Amino acid sequence: MANMSNIKNPMPTLDAALRARCFDEVATGYSEETALNEAARCLNCKNPLCVEGCPVKIHIPRFIQKVKEGDFEGAYQIISQSSSLPAVCGRVCPQESQCESKCVRGIKGEPVGIGRLERFVADWHNTYCTESPARPEPNGHKVAVVGSGPSGLTCAGDLAKLGYSVTVFEALHTAGGVLVYGIP
Ligand SMILES: Cc1cc2nc3c(=O)[nH]c(=O)nc-3n(C[C@H](O)[C@H](O)[C@H](O)COP(=O)(O)OP(=O)(O)OC[C@H]3O[C@@H](n4cnc5c(N)ncnc54)[C@H](O)[C@@H]3O)c2cc1C
Ligand code: SF4
Repeated sequence: MANMSNIKNPMPTLDAALRARCFDEVATGYSEETALNEAARCLNCKNPLCVEGCPVKIHIPRFIQKVKEGDFEGAYQIISQSSSLPAVCGRVCPQESQCESKCVRGIKGEPVGIGRLERFVADWHNTYCTESPARPEPNGHKVAVVGSGPSGLTCAGDLAKLGYSVTVFEALHTAGGVLVYGIP
């Protein structure tokens, strides 16, 4: 049954006394129980306007449906068809002006916490999934990707899935671009 609460499940945060003494993330992420409760707010719309608001057109109601069923890995597989960096996007995408700004639940209350659910699913996958992705047949072509920011990593990942042998070049000491040296 749908959860008709007009309020998004709040994002749990690290205790103020603790965060005054460390650099850990302030937002600690949904638990499984909270994710199930938030997913139940989604109406699985026939015409899901949330998808129109997503720049990479993640099939949002389908991944949320998997969360409702408790199939978190299934939810991850749906997101990863359209996005290579869901743990990042779940944290830093401006959902309030993208997918969530179009969600019908936002008309009479707060929209579904799509970003918080995306983050939950990606973190669940990163914690519990130990299987490496299937390696495609090499297609015999080599590609150099210059720069390891989100664009370079996405490009490298998509090409590797198509069988290209990809080498990523990075000028700085660690991979990630602005995700490493800017946003944090
Ligand atoms: C302070 C800050 C906060 C931000 N916050 C957000 C946010 O909250 N949400 C959001 O969606 N976006 C945010 N952004 C924007 C987001 O970070 C960028 O849109 C994104 O990082 C661009 O990705 P990119 O891969 O194109 O470039 P970059 O992340 O800049 O990566 C480019 C990489 O290429 C490397 N490189 C460049 N030239 C060479 C070379 N010749 N050889 C080898 N390596 C090279 C660089 O060292 C770098 O690592 C923020 C940006 C900044 C600066
Ligand atoms: S618009 Fe909102 S309620 Fe409808 S499918 Fe998208 S997230 Fe669910």
